[in-house]
Amino acid sequence: MLLSWPSDRCRQVDFAFSEKAQSYRQRLTAFMQESVLPAEKTYSSQLRHTAEWRQWVQPPIMEELKAKARAAGFWNLFLPEKEYGAGLTNLEYAPLAEIMGRSPIAPEVFNCNAPDTGNMEVLVKYASEAQKQRWLKPLLAGEIRSAFCMTEPDVASSDATNMRATALIEGNEVVLNGRKWWSSGIGHPHCKVAIYMGVTFAAAEKHVRHSMVLIPLDAPGVNIERMVSAFGMYDEPFGHGEVSFTNVRLPLDHIIAGPGRGFEIAQGRLGPGRIHHCMRSLGAAERALDLLCKRSLSRVAFGKTLAELGGNYDVIANARIAIEQARLLTLKAAWMMDTVGAKGAMSEISQIKVVAPSVAQTIIDQAIQIHGGAGVSPDFPLAEMFGYIRSLRLADGPDEVHRALIAKLELKKYKNAATAQSA
Ligand SMILES: Cc1cc2nc3c(=O)[nH]c(=O)nc-3n(C[C@H](O)[C@H](O)[C@H](O)COP(=O)(O)OP(=O)(O)OC[C@H]3O[C@@H](n4cnc5c(N)ncnc54)[C@H](O)[C@@H]3O)c2cc1C
Repeated sequence: MLLSWPSDRCRQVDFAFSEKAQSYRQRLTAFMQESVLPAEKTYSSQLRHTAEWRQWVQPPIMEELKAKARAAGFWNLFLPEKEYGAGLTNLEYAPLAEIMGRSPIAPEVFNCNAPDTGNMEVLVKYASEAQKQRWLKPLLAGEIRSAFCMTEPDVASSDATNMRATALIEGNEVVLNGRKWWSSGIGHPHCKVAIYMGVTFAAAEKHVRHSMVLIPLDAPGVNIERMVSAFGMYDEPFGHGEVSFTNVRLPLDHIIAGPGRGFEIAQGRLGPGRIHHCMRSLGAAERALDLLCKRSLSRVAFGKTLAELGGNYDVIANARIAIEQARLLTLKAAWMMDTVGAKGAMSEISQIKVVAPSVAQTIIDQAIQIHGGAGVSPDFPLAEMFGYIRSLRLADGPDEVHRALIAKLELKKYKNAATAQSA
C-alpha cells in the first residue's frame, strides 16, 4: 500500500508487508490457535493466585510453550538486529505483536514480553561485552527475567527529572539508595536482574544527571517490600513490586554505558517498547470485538439477538472503524521508526500511545457490557484484559504527558516558522 504523505519528513508511506512478514503472520496465527489460546486455562490453573508473591511459581506449561515456540522459530521476534533476534523491521514486527496481543500469556511464550524486551534492547545497544555475557545472553535464551525500576512512590514520576533515588559514585563502586515501585516483573521466580535509574550528578544539566545500573536482585540492600495489585490483580507470576534499595554497593562496571547517560538510554528504550504495547493493544481489541460479535449473535433477549438490540450495530461498526484507524496509525509509527528513527517518529509514537490503549479500553468495555455478568467473571478474559489495558494508559507515560509532547512538537513548527520570518 503506497500513500502520498503531506509531510516533509516522509513523502511516501509504504505499509506493504514483506513476504517474510506475511509468512510469519500466517504461521504465528496458526501457532496461536493451535498452541497458545488453548493453553490459557491450564496456565491459569497452574498459577498460585495469592498475594504471597514468594509462593508464586512459573506454570510448567509456559516452559513447554516457550520450547515449542523457539523450535518453531518464533523467538525474540522484536529485535531488529539479526545477530540477536529475527531481524524484522518494526513494520514487519507490528502485525506479529498484534497477533501476540490476543492472549495475555503469549508475549512470554515468544520471549517478547515487557519489560524484558525494553531491557534487552538497552543491553543490545548500550551494554559492555561483559554485561551482555552476564545478562543479555540468558535473557535472550528466556532463562531469566528482568525488571525496570524507574518510577518512585514519593514523586510525580511522569516527570523523570523529579527522580530522587541516587546512584552515587564512591571510589570504584556505585552506591544506590532509594525506593521504586511499579517495578513490573520483579516478582517472577525467574527474575534475576533489574535496571535501576538514579541520580548521579545532582548539579548537572537535567538530562545528564542520571545513570542506569544493572542490579543483581540478590545484591545486599535490595528488598522487595510488597507486590502492588492493579484493580485487585497481582499479575502473577510477574507482579509489580515496591522495592527499597539501601546502600546497595556494586562495582562501577554495573553502570550501563557510563555515569550520566541514564536519560539518553531511557529515551532510546521507550521508542520501540511503546509501539510494541500499542500493537498488542490492538490484538486485545480484536479479540474483544470477536467475543462481542459472537456473544451478540448467540444470545437472545426480547425476541431478538443482542446484536439487533438498541444501538449495538453502531457499537460494532464503531469498534471496527476505531481498530482500523488505530492500526493505520500504529503502522505509520512503526514505518517511521524504521525510516526516520525513534527521534523523527516521536510525535507518531506518542500519538499511537494515546490512541491504541484508549481504543482497546473502549472496545473491551463494550464487550464486557454485551456479555452481561459473564463479562466481569473469570470465564472470559475480558476483565483481565480491561485491567491490563487501563493500566497501560499510565505505564510508559500517562496519556496527558504524550499529548503534551505532541502539542509541543506541533507548536514548534509554528515557532520555527516565526523565527525564520523574523530573521
Ligand atoms: C501496571 C503498571 C505497570 C508499570 N510498570 C512500570 C515499570 O515496569 N517500571 C517503572 O519504572 N514504572 C512502571 N509503571 C509506572 C508508570 O510508568 C507511572 O505510573 C507513570 O509514569 C506515571 O507516574 P506516576 O504514577 O508517578 O504519576 P504522576 O506523575 O503523579 O502523574 C499523575 C497524573 O498527573 C497528570 N499529569 C502528569 N503530567 C501531566 C501533564 N504534562 N499534563 C497533564 N496532566 C499531567 C496525569 O493525569 C497523570 O496520570 C507502571 C505503572 C502501572 C500502572
